[in-house]
Amino acid sequence: MRVSLLFFSLVLCLFGCGSTRDTSSWFADNGKTKVLCTTGMIHDIVARVGQDKIDSHALIVGEIDPHSYELVKGDDDKIAFAQLVFGNGLNLEHGASLRYLLAEHPHVVNLGDEIQNKVPQKILKVSGEVDPHVWMDVSLWAEGIDAIVLALSKEDPASSAFYEQNGALLRQEMLSEHSLLQKAMRLVPDEKRYLVTSHDAFHYFARAYLAQGEGWEARCVAPEGLAPEGQLSSQDIKRVAQHLTQYEIGVVFPESNINQDALKKVISCCSHKVRCSDKPLYGDAIGPGDYLDMIRHNVEILKEEWSQ
Ligand code: FE
Repeated sequence: MRVSLLFFSLVLCLFGCGSTRDTSSWFADNGKTKVLCTTGMIHDIVARVGQDKIDSHALIVGEIDPHSYELVKGDDDKIAFAQLVFGNGLNLEHGASLRYLLAEHPHVVNLGDEIQNKVPQKILKVSGEVDPHVWMDVSLWAEGIDAIVLALSKEDPASSAFYEQNGALLRQEMLSEHSLLQKAMRLVPDEKRYLVTSHDAFHYFARAYLAQGEGWEARCVAPEGLAPEGQLSSQDIKRVAQHLTQYEIGVVFPESNINQDALKKVISCCSHKVRCSDKPLYGDAIGPGDYLDMIRHNVEILKEEWSQ
């Protein structure tokens, strides 16, 4: 168990922390559209649409919380240099310094906001607040592709047919993966598909992959709210512990970029045996692979743990 955890951490550090930190080539004048994306999940699909016509760079990489991210040295230069910025919106990036510079930039496209405009009925609210974790449902994240194609075409009209073609192929791949993930998850018995994680990042995932029809709300519960930096109350701990008892849940899942204290407190309040999985899920961090690898990773871990 320790060896696999060590390997997991090493992989995270080798790939998750370092892969997009080197920006020297991104600042080079090579005729490509310079694109800055706030998160890895955005960067991955933008790069798939733009391919070699763009230089895309992710601002928030590794195991960092995007909700509360504040600018570090050099970030202001990146934002100023970018011709086009893709953010998530829906109040994901609410760190004051980042929010301020994004508001000042002349060409920002927030994929979550675009998705909300396109399919408002599919956007979730948690305790009255809009849930920004739209990437957790692959079919919903695919709704952002049109906005990417449009924005890249605006910067580089000569390549618009190229972007449209790439966007169409990506949409097809994502929708096909979405169906495969649904089928894979539904191989797990219905009564096992109750997810408890660190923070409220998995509601879209629960609706898309854990439930069949009504009642998906009970499929996903977390002690921490939409943004993990919020205050945790004893009521939150009790609420989740009661949920674990009600649905006879025996395993909870930490997230790769959030400490496990809240989950440990929940477990300590349970009267039945509950364990914390030693395989973290990816909620707000993309992990070592690409976006679809991230979602597949989550499905694989859940399948494995729920079949024990
Ligand atoms: Fe989150």
